[in-house]
Amino acid sequence: MSDNRYNPYETAQAQFDVIAGMLELESGIRELLRRPLREYHFTIPVRMDNGEVKVFQGFRVQHNDARGPAKGGIRFHPEETADTVRALAMWMTWKCSVVDIPLGGGKGGVICDPRSLTDREQERLCRGWIRQISKDIGPNRDVPAPDVMTSAKHMLWMLDEFETINGERLPGVITGKPVGMGGSLGRKEATGFGVIYTLREALKELNLKPENMTASIQGFGNVAQHAVQLFRELGGTVSAISCWDHKDCNSCTYVKKDGINPKELCEITDPYGGIDKEKAADMNYQVLPGDEWINQDVDILIPAALENQITASNMQNISKRVKVIAEGANGPTTPAADKIISEKGIFVIPDFLANAGGVTCSYFEQVQSNMNYFWEKEEVLEKLDTKMTSAYKAVSGLDRKRKLYMRDAAYVIAINRVAEAVSARGWA
Ligand code: GLU
Repeated sequence: MSDNRYNPYETAQAQFDVIAGMLELESGIRELLRRPLREYHFTIPVRMDNGEVKVFQGFRVQHNDARGPAKGGIRFHPEETADTVRALAMWMTWKCSVVDIPLGGGKGGVICDPRSLTDREQERLCRGWIRQISKDIGPNRDVPAPDVMTSAKHMLWMLDEFETINGERLPGVITGKPVGMGGSLGRKEATGFGVIYTLREALKELNLKPENMTASIQGFGNVAQHAVQLFRELGGTVSAISCWDHKDCNSCTYVKKDGINPKELCEITDPYGGIDKEKAADMNYQVLPGDEWINQDVDILIPAALENQITASNMQNISKRVKVIAEGANGPTTPAADKIISEKGIFVIPDFLANAGGVTCSYFEQVQSNMNYFWEKEEVLEKLDTKMTSAYKAVSGLDRKRKLYMRDAAYVIAINRVAEAVSARGWA
C-alpha cells in the first residue's frame, strides 16, 4: 500500500533543499528552483454519453524552462492532486537535465478514473483539457506527453484539438503520438527499456550477471511490460509482478518462480495494466495480495507503478537477497524508506535517471516531428541506449568519486545544470 502521509511535493522540495545546500546555491536560485515557474488549474466540462455534463479538475504545471521548453506527461488518475503534479513537474526538470536533453520540466493531470469513462467521453475530456491550456503550450513552450493511464490515442485527440484551434499542423506540440501520426518508433518501449539499460550498466559495475538475476516488479502498465521484455532478453528472470485486478481494482501479485512470460500475460491484461485474476490462476500463476511483490526472494526490485510505494514499514520485510532497486516509477520511495535503503547499502538507480528513457525518446520524437522526417526503430533505440548509458555513467562516476548516494549524485548533476542555465540567463 502507498504511504499517503508523504506529500510528493514536500518530498521533492526536501530532496532539492539537501542538494541545494550541498551545492551552496545562492538563495535566489534556490527560491526559484524549489517552486514551479507557472501553474494552471482549470475546470473541464464534459458532456457524458448519457447527456449529463460532468466537470473535471485539470492541471498543468511548468516547473522550469531555462534549459528548453517544458516537457512532461499528463496523468489521468482519481487521486491526482495539485501537489502531485507540482512534484512530478519538478522531477521532470531534473530528469531532462540528468540525461542532458534541451528541455525543461512540466506535468499535467486530470482528476478522473478513465477506467470508468467510455472512449468518447475520454476523447471529449482530452479535447477539453487542450481547450483550457492551448494558449500556454506549444512546440517551443511546453510539450505534453502520456503518463499514468494516458496513451497514444489520447495524445492524438489532444494534438487534433490543438491543431484545429491553431489552424495548422504542429505535431511537435505533443509526444507519445501513434506511429504514422507523428509518433516515434520505439517510444512505446522507451521508458521500460531505459530502466533496463541503466540496470544493465549497474549490474556490470556490481559484477553481477543478468542471467543469474531474478526480479520482482510492481506494475504491469507500459513501463513494466517493456522492462520485463528487455530484462528477459538479457537473460534475467522476472518471477513476480503486481498490478491491480481489472474488475475490482484490488491489486494482486502474480508469481511464477521460473519466470513470467510477458506476451502470455499481456493477452489477459487490460489497457491500464489490470490483469484478469481468474485467467492468471488458470495459467498457473500464484496469485498473492498486491503488496507481496516487495517481499519476494529476489535480487532486484523494480517499482514501476506510482509514488510512495516503498515505505519504511514494507522495507522491513524485503529479502536480504535484494541488491538493486531500479525505480521505474516517479517517486516510488518515501524519504524514510530511502534512508533505510541507503543504510542497508542496497544499490539504487533513482527514478529520474532510471525512467528517463520515455522523455528521452519523446525528445527524439519532437525532433522528428518538427523536421517531419522519421528514423528507423533501431536508430531510435540505439540513440536511446547511448543517452541512457552515458547519463548512468556520469551519475555513477560522481557517486564513486564523491562517495555520494546514487540519488544524491543524480541530483547534483541535474540541479547543477539547471542552476547554471538559470544563472546564465540572468534569472537569479
Ligand atoms: N510521463 C513520462 C515521464 O514521467 C514521459 C514524459 C515525456 O515523454 O515527456 O517521464
